[in-house]
Amino acid sequence: MTTYWIKNVSILGGEPTNLVLSMGKVSHIGDLRGDSLAEDVEDVEGVEGVEQVDGTGLIALPGLVDLHTHLREPGREDAETVLTGTQAAAMGGFTAVHAMANTDPVADTAGVVEQVWRLGREGGYCDVYPVGAVTVGLAGHQLAELGAMADSAARVRVFSDDGQCVSDAVLMRRALEYVKAFDGVVAQHAQEARLTEGAQMNEGELSGRLGLAGWPAVAEEAVIARDCLLAAHVGSRLHVCHVSTAGSVELIRQAKASGWNVTAEVTPHHLLLTDDLAASYDPVYKVNPPLRSSADTEALRAGLADGTIDVVATDHAPHPLEDKDCEWAAAAFGMLGLETALSVVQETMVDAGRLTWGEVADRMSYAPARIGRVGDHGRPLEEGAPANVVLYDPSVRRVVEASESVSLSRNTPYAGRELPGRVVATFRQGRPTVLDGKLA
Ligand SMILES: [Zn+2]
Repeated sequence: MTTYWIKNVSILGGEPTNLVLSMGKVSHIGDLRGDSLAEDVEDVEGVEGVEQVDGTGLIALPGLVDLHTHLREPGREDAETVLTGTQAAAMGGFTAVHAMANTDPVADTAGVVEQVWRLGREGGYCDVYPVGAVTVGLAGHQLAELGAMADSAARVRVFSDDGQCVSDAVLMRRALEYVKAFDGVVAQHAQEARLTEGAQMNEGELSGRLGLAGWPAVAEEAVIARDCLLAAHVGSRLHVCHVSTAGSVELIRQAKASGWNVTAEVTPHHLLLTDDLAASYDPVYKVNPPLRSSADTEALRAGLADGTIDVVATDHAPHPLEDKDCEWAAAAFGMLGLETALSVVQETMVDAGRLTWGEVADRMSYAPARIGRVGDHGRPLEEGAPANVVLYDPSVRRVVEASESVSLSRNTPYAGRELPGRVVATFRQGRPTVLDGKLA
């Protein structure tokens, strides 16, 4: 196995140093003991040569972990496959992704989650952790085989009907109770169905003017409030997917202050984009939950900065052209996110002075790995840790081109927009998945 000697790199924005990845581990950080690296590593069994990487100007972060990715396989391989989705993830600096269950067939059995897990292993670009459905077929009527999925080779710990809300309070309570047996977590897509029938965009003055049915904040907040109370009642772990409103942030802040075991995520697009983009009627901006007001965006940024929101998760949702290239009301919900997530976080949080790079590592690697109970990811870059690393250049700016995405789909909301930063290299277990900004 090749050893990678990354010279002059800034770990989490600190002083430039050496970072050596050997035999799948971080083998050395800091000054070299001898005159050359050879004295440190040459006699290690299995090392097949040393490749030097110039880390000047680059920041090293632990490999990013996404708690919320739609890989679309099985069933919609025209939109994305496990291979292309994990390639897009690697290009974005991710070394692990959680694959949502709303595939066809739905990931509601041990057989389907093991299939997705194996496809991830075969591809080799990311470790893929399948999310198990909470209810059979995401239909909301009957609990899926949670225990069988937890015991399977995929070792599922995160369960979600994402795309659908687990509306039935009894089922939600049973799921929360059930996952305690194996330290699992229920990740809720909080959307009150009756309040969002036909909803197309954030409810407000603009939705009325555009003639698009409004999606009120209370439709999200009512479910979050109920679920926080349920999680507290049964003493279980709740994770709230893609929080999008100021009121939701405040509810989660109160739940945490009460000592309840509630975590939450925000997407990059809800940190950066606002509902006025819907005025273009361009369905690339149609997403569930919808883009909200600038006051909501500000509350989400503040919540992420103070730790109320634990995680940035992409909700990467690829769609083929025919599902987006149509009128707004007919278009599918969702947008790409893996390849641009770190740049959006830099723009909205780091460059704005609201998060340090160390806190970015927490929100995009440590915390999601902790919530998903993923042991080999989300570890601080220190000697002996698994060599899951991203090298990132924060100094460049680039205009996003949809055609440059390695995803099978093109529905990025950032096309034509200038964003800071670029992933230069991603290492998964010591092997490069991205090098010189290209798939390795
Ligand atoms: Zn969702």
